[in-house]
Amino acid sequence: MKFDTILEYQRVDLELIALETEATSSKERAALLTAKKNLDTATSTVGKLSAEAGEIIANYGKIQDKMNDLKTNLDEFTGLLEDLDDVSEAEYYLKEVDAIVSEIIALDKEANKEMNRIDGVNNDYKKTWEAGTKASEVFRQAKAVYDKFMAELQPKANEIKAKLDALQKEIPEDLLSRYKALRDPKKMPVFVEYDASKKICGRCRMEMPNDVIEKLRQSGDYAECPNCRRINYLP
Ligand SMILES: [Zn+2]
Repeated sequence: MKFDTILEYQRVDLELIALETEATSSKERAALLTAKKNLDTATSTVGKLSAEAGEIIANYGKIQDKMNDLKTNLDEFTGLLEDLDDVSEAEYYLKEVDAIVSEIIALDKEANKEMNRIDGVNNDYKKTWEAGTKASEVFRQAKAVYDKFMAELQPKANEIKAKLDALQKEIPEDLLSRYKALRDPKKMPVFVEYDASKKICGRCRMEMPNDVIEKLRQSGDYAECPNCRRINYLP
């Protein structure tokens, strides 16, 4: 019968799909994905905290520069005031000095705020770094467990693939290409027996339209169901 080999191929291929499903839905893979996500989160947080620390240090540097400029101004006034006789002029300069001192005090407070911020960032950084180191270790272990699990499935997968390769040589090209077009989107089983008595699809049970029924007249005929896209064949 024309369909024997492709049906056998489909049966063996279902074993391969079951094996693939076993791998993708395994607890080993779930653990690996979780570990990867935790590691990525820690890595990205470390990056953000580094950037924030850099920004704070730059701010702190700017504040220090401003303070140094003001202190230089202040030093100039000290010289001026010593040589001054005029009281009103002295008062004017003293006011200027007061203003500069207030500005320095305000900047000092700002600098302290930045220092406190950097302490906070430092603590967060340490904690995240520790969490990241742990996450990295958990990931390493999960990866080893997953690799071992996959390696154990490999001989079975190889065996199935060898069977498929052998069967493939005996299947007409047109049947095989139609099968593969539906196999990859996992429309399994691809080949279903046409229910000729009811004129319905062997899979989705939809009534076949006349143009499809026309194609399914004698043994060996096959046609695609317009609803579920499965290949209906007549044995
Ligand atoms: Zn159908």
